[in-house]
Amino acid sequence: MLNVPSQAFPAPGSQQRVASQGRSKVPLKQGRSLMDWIRLTRSGKDLTGLKGRLIDVTEEELKTHNKKDDCWICIRGLVYNVSPYMEYHPGGEDELMRAAGADGTDLFNEVHRWVNYESMLKECLVGRMAVKPAALKGMRPKSQVTDTLPREGPSSPSYDWFQTESSVTIVIYTKQKNINLDSVIVDLQDDSLRAEVVIKDQSYLIHIELSHEVQENISVRVIENVGKVDIVLQKRENIPWKCLGQPLEKHDSFIPKKDTGLYYRKCQLISKEYVTHDTRLFCLMLPPSTHLQVPVGHHVYLMLSVTGAEIVKPYTPVSESLLSDFKEPVFPPNKYIYFLIKIYPDGLFTPELDRLQIGDFVSVSSPEGNFKLSKLQEVEDLFLLAAGTGFTPMVNILKYSLTSVSSLRKVKLMFFNKTEDDIIWRCQLEKLAFKDKRFDIEFVLSTPSSEWNGKRGHVSPALLSEFLERSLENSRVFLCICGPTPFTDEGIRLLHDLNFSTDEIHGFTA
Ligand code: FAD
Ligand code: NAP
Repeated sequence: MLNVPSQAFPAPGSQQRVASQGRSKVPLKQGRSLMDWIRLTRSGKDLTGLKGRLIDVTEEELKTHNKKDDCWICIRGLVYNVSPYMEYHPGGEDELMRAAGADGTDLFNEVHRWVNYESMLKECLVGRMAVKPAALKGMRPKSQVTDTLPREGPSSPSYDWFQTESSVTIVIYTKQKNINLDSVIVDLQDDSLRAEVVIKDQSYLIHIELSHEVQENISVRVIENVGKVDIVLQKRENIPWKCLGQPLEKHDSFIPKKDTGLYYRKCQLISKEYVTHDTRLFCLMLPPSTHLQVPVGHHVYLMLSVTGAEIVKPYTPVSESLLSDFKEPVFPPNKYIYFLIKIYPDGLFTPELDRLQIGDFVSVSSPEGNFKLSKLQEVEDLFLLAAGTGFTPMVNILKYSLTSVSSLRKVKLMFFNKTEDDIIWRCQLEKLAFKDKRFDIEFVLSTPSSEWNGKRGHVSPALLSEFLERSLENSRVFLCICGPTPFTDEGIRLLHDLNFSTDEIHGFTA
């Protein structure tokens, strides 16, 4: 990943070894960390060899730059000379070389589409591809965009709009059932409206520069059984509109979600609460002109500028509290996102986040993730294994299953930490277990004090076989596991040894 700090990072066995499925990282040389890269890009050194000129690159020319010491790669229509970056790339030189002299957009999207390469590689920008529509994925200038991009088949979504004296309603016909408010993401920035409806692995996009000004509060309604989405805008002036507006990039297109690019909006820090000695509960407020709900088990990316470079890291929203069914939320729901975030004093991102003042802004991406809520349907026994902040995806899974899965008999959480002081929301977990007899919690500590009477050690066959006791012999079971990557990998291996099938396990990885 472009912006994971390095110097043999993550060190072998490091708990921070966050690798995406099947990807490994390579040890990097001394002096080749992300901070070293940022320093190099700030040094004023000519990293493209073009002395600051930007050129139009033909496909033929691109192909000739295919060697380690002369390596150009095209990402989403822009061409970068990545040779100076080779030694700093945590995925290794060989991974970059897979796209040498070619269009690496698909490879990039596959591996880390969330990485802000525009910021990381801006000093390596050679220019853009000389016009060749197929290569200009997502980079078409506004003037070239029509609202008739090819879409797939008669079941593709479509849209229409109507107005009253004071409002404009955009209606999206998804032609799919099971669309809910989580599937719809709407942002209004200045006069440009971007709406995305996520339908399985595809996204339907509406992207328009509105013809007239509207008020910043928008509302979204979904009629689930017919898959219809209404986006209601309030006019600033009560005058009739002749047209909705001008189409912008990818307007009215139905494309694979991975090709949409990650969209960020600025959210304001509203509160920060100390949860443990190193973990805080951050509350961010979405702009009034945004509709965004993060599905259970999904995460977002937070982006901050660190010494001038935009750094992005993934975080999993949680609810404000495990017990919020029993208390009034402090803020109205849906406009606020909460995160439990551990601050690593020597980390790259979290100290910056911790330094933010109330009222400061952080950019928050649209949700990502592959957890399927349908896996919880009809489950009878749910087992959750979490280590450290790997607890975060469990929060909403736990709340959802206790409130919405009627078949549920038992939920058990085994929570691994180093010491008692590291346990996030211990008191809330104990209260919840007391209030709801279906829920049980077991804490396991790897470096407990001498007073600790509970379980100790690491995830192991002995701990698991005792913990994974079903409520009925053949109950429908589901297991979730999240924590440092080696913990998750080892846990999944042990669960397979205990005869749980791949279908019954969800491992949260990067
Ligand atoms: P980093 O700079 O990544 O450093 C972290 C630690 O690694 C530090 O102790 C640092 O000293 C050490 N380190 C750095 N470089 C090296 C090196 N060369 N060798 C050895 N060690 C090194 N975290 C949360 O707190 N809450 C969440 O909700 C959450 N959700 C996540 C969701 C997903 C999908 C994923 C993949 C991760 C999630 N994380 C979450 C982790 C988060 O993304 C960051 O990895 C974490 O916050 C650390 O970021 P950082 O930049 O501050 O630290
Ligand atoms: P931590 O406090 O360092 O560790 C928590 C517990 O896990 C400790 O008991 C630790 O034991 C144990 N552990 C560490 N490595 C292990 C291994 N190889 N095998 C077995 N047990 C191991 O954890 P943290 O700092 O909070 O880190 C949480 C991790 O979860 C981060 O890597 C983060 O990226 C990840 N995370 C992922 C997601 C996701 O959705 N993918 C979401 C949230 C968090 P020791 O005392 O021996 O270290």
